[in-house]
Amino acid sequence: PRDAGACVTAVDDTGTEGAKEKGASSNGAYAGGTAHIDGRLVPLAEARIPILDWGFLRSDATYDVVHVWKGAFFRLEDHLDRFERNMAALRLDPGLTRPRIRDILMECVARSGLRDAYVEMICTRGQPPVGSRDPRKCQNRFYAFTAPFVFVADENQRARGLHMRVSERPRIPPESVNPTVKNYHWMDLTAGLFEALDKGAESVVLTDGRGHVTEGPGFNVFIVTDGRVATPDVGVLDGITRRTVIELCGLEGIPCQARAVAVTELKAADEVFITSTAGGAMPVTRIDGAPVGEGTPGPITQRLSSLYWSKQESGWLATKVEYGDG
Ligand code: PLP
Repeated sequence: PRDAGACVTAVDDTGTEGAKEKGASSNGAYAGGTAHIDGRLVPLAEARIPILDWGFLRSDATYDVVHVWKGAFFRLEDHLDRFERNMAALRLDPGLTRPRIRDILMECVARSGLRDAYVEMICTRGQPPVGSRDPRKCQNRFYAFTAPFVFVADENQRARGLHMRVSERPRIPPESVNPTVKNYHWMDLTAGLFEALDKGAESVVLTDGRGHVTEGPGFNVFIVTDGRVATPDVGVLDGITRRTVIELCGLEGIPCQARAVAVTELKAADEVFITSTAGGAMPVTRIDGAPVGEGTPGPITQRLSSLYWSKQESGWLATKVEYGDG
């Protein structure tokens, strides 16, 4: 539901008229994506942020990513809940109400005309007054953008399963940076990804440094052993897709537990898959060069993945985008 009066004023600063009239298939400069900056909508490629924003200089920010599939947001309210919780945890307040944020996201997607989209909302610390380094004095900022939907794994990788490496580099300890507060502290993940790519793998999973699995760049990890599903419970983001898979297991009567998962269990599992807003549940079929189970996407992974998409397409936890083009 849209709250009356909460609608953001979208100003087109390119002079490009007719995005609405042209409909979904050709939204001009906005078709490649739309960004919301300082109360204005701009084509994504033209979006700019101030260089002195601590979000950029210090990774002092939180963000969330929700997707739109076939013209509807999936679990929009859950993503907004997480975003609000994480802003509060970091003492960030961009001065926008939840209905306003919801409206901005809607407006970004509607303007782009994208039916399958990746939608990111960001709150940064902003800038302190000149001469100050006091985070309490910063004026926090809100940004949002939408881009064409993107998968963590490409089509071929999703069909045959990802080739994964377990990095020896531990994830930043949760006592230092809380991983449940979605953040841009990705140097460990990116360095791990470089190592994995250099060694011929396609993606990476980091550990806690004590022999347990954590997560990878943009995804949670699941194992299936003897028909039982498990996913790490600490040191990871409480992914919305992870939650969805746990719920789907409940609906399907598949035992599923959030608990510590040892690297040895990961390597001995019958099936391994990753979960992300950018792709749902996606199979992993090789770890450190060795096949997982039979070396092909497993039956439980495939069942959960197809349920994830089919339930969304039937309107489960969906919020329709009002495109205004019929
Ligand atoms: N873990 C990390 C570090 C992430 O960045 C993400 C998503 O970007 C995830 C897990 C998956 O979370 P979600 O299912 O909410 O997309």
